[in-house]
Amino acid sequence: MYLKRVELQGFKSFADRIEIEFQPGINAIVGPNGSGKSNITDAIRWVLGEQSIKTLRGSKLEDVIFAGSHGRKPMGMAEVSIILDNSDHLLPLEYSEICITRRVFRSGESEFYLNKVPCRLRDIQELFMDTGIGKDGYSIISQGQVDEFLISRPEERRMIFEETAGIMKHRARKREAEKKLEE
Ligand code: ATP
Ligand code: MG
Repeated sequence: MYLKRVELQGFKSFADRIEIEFQPGINAIVGPNGSGKSNITDAIRWVLGEQSIKTLRGSKLEDVIFAGSHGRKPMGMAEVSIILDNSDHLLPLEYSEICITRRVFRSGESEFYLNKVPCRLRDIQELFMDTGIGKDGYSIISQGQVDEFLISRPEERRMIFEETAGIMKHRARKREAEKKLEE
């Protein structure tokens, strides 16, 4: 599986709709400071369900929406889609191409889609659990994260090993079953 394409519209500095194509293997994004390189990784995190505004380098929810620039009005909606090649069926879906979309309006309304069909944030989280791709996965390593790993507490470090080993899903299910028993 690999990331095939990212489509952005109204997300952070990307007012116009753009498509960024990737190839299997190593891809590099280069550009001057402030040109939007990190905004692209923010977009990928966001579509994978990132809820932390701080992680997305903003201070409020609507900071992901294009805020306007010289001669250009702010936009009312941000939309990001990622297209994954799933021809190896690493993700347990029959589709060989998976498109995940997230949309947010200034009103705060938020939507998720899986191959154009509306879904819940939870469906996205479950789909990526134990693959290392989810928002807490190890597929996105940001600045400072290596240091963080080295100084983290054993319990925190264990979470990363568990995600890698693929037992997070079972842990989540166990927790849910326990919760149901308590009710
Ligand atoms: P560096 O090389 O310094 O890391 P970069 O290419 O990673 O730079 P980004 O951090 O992705 O750059 O982009 C920062 C730019 O995005 C800033 O100019 C900022 O004004 C712009 N930006 C961020 N959020 C918004 C928004 N909501 N609306 C419009 N522009 C935004
Ligand atoms: Mg950057």
